[in-house]
Amino acid sequence: MNPRLPRRIVVTGGAGFLGSHLCTRLIEAGHEVLCVDNFYTGTKANIAHLIGHPAFELLRHDITFPLYIEADEIYNLACPASPVHYQHDPVQTTKTCVHGSINMLGLAKRLNARILQASTSEVYGDPDRHPQREDYWGHVNPNGIRACYDEGKRCAETLFADYQRQYGLQVKIARIFNTYGPRMRPDDGRVVSNLMMQALAGESMTVYGDGGQTRSFCYVDDLIDGLVRLMNSPDGFHGPVNLGNTHETTVLEIARTIRGLAGSASDIELRPLPQDDPVRRCPDIDLARRMLGWEPGTPLEEGLRRTLAYFRQRFFQSGPAPAA
Ligand code: NAD
Ligand code: UDP
Ligand code: UDP
Repeated sequence: MNPRLPRRIVVTGGAGFLGSHLCTRLIEAGHEVLCVDNFYTGTKANIAHLIGHPAFELLRHDITFPLYIEADEIYNLACPASPVHYQHDPVQTTKTCVHGSINMLGLAKRLNARILQASTSEVYGDPDRHPQREDYWGHVNPNGIRACYDEGKRCAETLFADYQRQYGLQVKIARIFNTYGPRMRPDDGRVVSNLMMQALAGESMTVYGDGGQTRSFCYVDDLIDGLVRLMNSPDGFHGPVNLGNTHETTVLEIARTIRGLAGSASDIELRPLPQDDPVRRCPDIDLARRMLGWEPGTPLEEGLRRTLAYFRQRFFQSGPAPAA
C-alpha cells in the first residue's frame, strides 16, 4: 500500500493521549480522519487544534455498540490505558476490548479495510523473561485487578488473529510499551504524569514500592511513527510487534531525573506497591527494526523536557497551552 495516497481513516480513541497525536499526524500526511470517541478518558481539548479542519471529523460514539460508516483504514485505540482509569469500571474496560474489537473487526470485514489494534506490553503481565519478545506468551493473573485490561487486550489479540485467519482480514497488532508525552492527563495516575505534576507543584513525589521496578519509556512522537509504519507494512505482516523504547530505567531513577529537570525541591515519598505491579518491563524490538525499519530516536531526557514544558505551561502558567 502506498502510504502517500490520501485515505479515509478511522481513529477510535482519537481524543485520547496517543489518539490525538495520531489524528494530527494523519491529517498532516494528507489523509481524512474520523475520530471516534466516547470521551471516557479523552478530551475535546486534545483535539481542539483539529476542530474545523476540513479533513477532520469527530463522532461521539462508544465502540461497544456497532458502527456503520465508510473508511479505508481503522486504527483501534479506544480503551482507557492507565491503571486508575481502566480499574474504575473494569467491566466496561473488558467490554471495550472485546465487544469493541468485535465491532471494529466487523466494520473492517464489511469494508475490507486494514485494521490496527493498539495492544499492550500488559499482555506479558508480570514477565519472567527479559527483555520481552513477541514469542513470549506472558505471565498474567487472569482474575486480578489488572486482568480487565490485560486479559481484555489478550482476547482482543485473539480476535484480531482469528479474523485474519478466518476471513483473510489485513490486521496489524502493535504491542505498545509505556509511552509518555504532552497530552497525558494530569490525573491519570501514571508514573510520568504523577511525578511531573508533583514536582512542579513542589509536593512529595510518590514512588511505589522501593522504586526498583523498571519500565522503558517511549516518547509519543516515536511511538506514533511506529504505529503508522506498522499500518503501512506489507500485506501478510500482521505482528504482533513490540513498539517501545529499550532504555530500561527504575521508577526511582525516573523520579530523580524528573525532579532534576523540573528544578524541584520535592522529596520522594515511598508508598505501597499496587497489587500485580510488574517488576520489570523492557521490549525486544528486533522485529520492529527488521520489519518496519523503526526504532525510537528521542532520548529520555529530551522527551521528559518536552513533556515537562507541556505540563508547566498547561497547568502551572496562565495563557495558551503550548502546541503539543
Ligand atoms: P487514553 O485513555 O488517553 O485514550 C483512550 C481513548 O479511548 C480516550 O479518548 C477514551 O475516551 C476512548 N475510549 C475509551 N473507551 C471507549 C469506548 N468504549 N468507545 C470509544 N472511545 C473510547 O489512552 P492512551 O494512552 O492514548 O492509549 C491509547 C491506546 O493505546 C489504548 O488502547 C491503550 O490500551 C494503548 N496503549 C497505551 C499505552 C501508553 O503508554 N499510553 C501503552 C500500551 C497500550
Ligand atoms: N459491525 C459493525 N459495523 C459494520 C459491520 C459489523 O459495527 O459495518 C459489528 C456488528 O455488531 C457485528 C460485529 O461487528 O455483530 C461483527 O461482525 P461480523 O460480520 O464479524 O459478524 P456478525 O455478528 O455480523 O455475524
Ligand atoms: N508508579 C509510582 N508512582 C506513581 C505512579 C506509578 O511509583 O505515582 C509506579 C507503578 O507502581 C509502576 C510504574 O510506576 O511500577 C509505572 O506505572 P504506570 O501506571 O505509569 O504504568 P504501568 O504500571 O501500567 O506500566
